[in-house]
Amino acid sequence: MNITPAQLRDLADRADALQAEARALYAGLPVDSPERAHLQAAHHAAEWLKRAGEDLLRAAGDLAQYRALAESTCGFPWGVCPEHGNTLSSMANVSTCRVCRRTWDYDRRGQKCGEPVTWKVTDRVGTESLMCDGHVLGARAAMQGATFMRLDAAT
Ligand SMILES: [Zn+2]
Ligand SMILES: [Zn+2]
Repeated sequence: MNITPAQLRDLADRADALQAEARALYAGLPVDSPERAHLQAAHHAAEWLKRAGEDLLRAAGDLAQYRALAESTCGFPWGVCPEHGNTLSSMANVSTCRVCRRTWDYDRRGQKCGEPVTWKVTDRVGTESLMCDGHVLGARAAMQGATFMRLDAAT
């Protein structure tokens, strides 16, 4: 099943409509009605529905943001081994990882990185960059005091 942000926003709208109805019912009771005390739970339900609507909207936003990230690529100007980072040797248009010996039959090191973005790195002065698993290895070694956040674990 593929949930869309629009579905979540639709649910949020329905929760909002329900909370408005529940609230209107409660508000419609005369202030001095003895039944008021017995409808406290309905009043609380309206509060919960309001929060549910807000949570659903937040989920819609988070999902949309995640999808946008999942579709973006790292974009560093050089390629790396997705598992080992900056370990590629290139010879005659073949790149080889010095650690796992995986090969690519093109000059991977000389090309822009096309791996999916999986990390958000924030340096000491607050500059954020997005990068793939391979590039984050090099960044960990080079960027002291930076914060590393794995994006798919962030939600
Ligand atoms: Zn490797
Ligand atoms: Zn990369």
